[in-house]
Amino acid sequence: MTSCPTSGPVTRFAPSPSGHLHVGGARTALYSWAFAKGRGGTFIIRIEDTDQKRSSDAASVGFLKDLDWLGIRWDEGPEYTAPDGTKVGGGANGSYFQSERLAIYERYFQKLIAEDKAYEAWDSAEELDVLRKEATARKEAFRYRFRGEPAAADIARFRAEGRQPVVRFRTPQVPITIHDEVLGDATLPAGEVDDFVIRKKDGFPTYHFAVVVDDELMGVTHVLRAQEHFTNTAKHMVLQDALGFRRPTYGHLSIIKNPDDSKMSKRDKDKVLRKAVKEKALTTPPAGTVTADEWTKWLGDENVQLDLEGAIRLADALKVTLPEINVDDFRRSGYLPETICNFLALNGWSPGHDIEKFDNAFLKERFSLDRVIKTPAKFDRVKLLAFNTDAINAMSREDFLRRCREHAAQFRPEYLAKLGDARFDLLMHASHERSKTFDDPFKTNGFLLVADDALVFADDKNVRKALGIGAPAADGAKSGLDLLRAIRGVLAALPEWTQPALEAAANAYAAEHAAGKIGSVAQPLRIAASGTTVSPPIWDTLVLVGRDATLARLDRCVAWASALR
Ligand code: GLU
Repeated sequence: MTSCPTSGPVTRFAPSPSGHLHVGGARTALYSWAFAKGRGGTFIIRIEDTDQKRSSDAASVGFLKDLDWLGIRWDEGPEYTAPDGTKVGGGANGSYFQSERLAIYERYFQKLIAEDKAYEAWDSAEELDVLRKEATARKEAFRYRFRGEPAAADIARFRAEGRQPVVRFRTPQVPITIHDEVLGDATLPAGEVDDFVIRKKDGFPTYHFAVVVDDELMGVTHVLRAQEHFTNTAKHMVLQDALGFRRPTYGHLSIIKNPDDSKMSKRDKDKVLRKAVKEKALTTPPAGTVTADEWTKWLGDENVQLDLEGAIRLADALKVTLPEINVDDFRRSGYLPETICNFLALNGWSPGHDIEKFDNAFLKERFSLDRVIKTPAKFDRVKLLAFNTDAINAMSREDFLRRCREHAAQFRPEYLAKLGDARFDLLMHASHERSKTFDDPFKTNGFLLVADDALVFADDKNVRKALGIGAPAADGAKSGLDLLRAIRGVLAALPEWTQPALEAAANAYAAEHAAGKIGSVAQPLRIAASGTTVSPPIWDTLVLVGRDATLARLDRCVAWASALR
């Protein structure tokens, strides 16, 4: 038996490393962390990579990175260096990758076989299929039971054929009662659990076996995991009894759903994209998104999903927002990890007393299993965005700037490269108040990246009105387009291109030519510089675009609008 560094509870989060960390998994990790850390215990990460086909190292690293980003650090587990240089993980009970623990599992397989509690089974896939069909014909669920020892000659023949045996557990035919701290107790009648496989043909343990061995050897006292594993617990219990292991306390967590009761799945992204493609009646993929082949396969079969990068490129081209499902999606969308944790904690648990806003330190202090709900939580994105907006509003300018820089370094490097430090900082200052996420300063300001001769002016109602396109100006009044044409010389002659200088010049100009209405001058300038009627405060916008570019854009705008007039 291994020693535990503390006397408190030991919990673990045990992801299977395929794909990305889903919000449901993140909540399981958060609750497991909070439960242990609030009670002076130990929190472990274990990577369950026994499914060789589905597991990848990249996925493992992705999970660790996501957990660290959320502020969930592990006392034991895979070694990881956080971006701040902190070394996390390690521990006396490793390896924390199941694929590196095969020799350990083998010892326990041999023990069970020696005690006649498990046996090798040589059935081929075809033979199992026949058994399955026979059960169906009898209108019974297929449950594998010991089928007798094969003769030595048969085993020799199997070996010669290259067949590999699995190892099955000889499940005792007794009722099994699962105690669950969240869902309550449930009893499976005798005979419900069959002689399930514990070692696969490739020599790897099945999930059931590895989880039981590892929970024991790692001293896990409390298992919090997804509700889908509830009935698996019966298998784990019979194995624990057979191996003489202790029984952890279990708590199974309900799933997190969309508000419309559907499962939060990565398919939701494809759904949004398919809808946009249909609305726009597109028949070919927008340039630089996905290949023609991928496009045809994807459109031809609702079950086909685009890979994440392709989906992101297509979403950008179609100007739609992909629903966030995985932790990394929320990071990319510019959410604060603190907000995600706060919000996830509330999806399935509450501290009571109408308290809604709290941090992980509070969660750790207060978290208990008796306040975890049994029913599925509904993930309310509108509320999440409101939480995030509040957090951004409450942030100091410096903090906002720092975090936006980090965000840009990872997801919007083109802004850092194009704007340089001073103008980047100015964009963040100008965007803070109106931002709901760290991505907002970038999402709506693409005009800062385009070449002056590639800027597209939006031909919409607001633009037409501001420039006086299609509607004669009131008697004697200059149209926006006239003002734009006329102010060019004033701007070109400004001794310096700063907000106060621009504002003073425009004010003076408006006083003389636009009845003092600064908006009549500012809005056409905004359109000229940004292409639309929405941008950061106008004088900031002009400084961000720069003098030469503003003048070049202004000329193009005048030409464009004149042609429409
Ligand atoms: N690897 C399992 C999963 O990702 C973990 C289940 C458990 O916590 O026992 O679902």
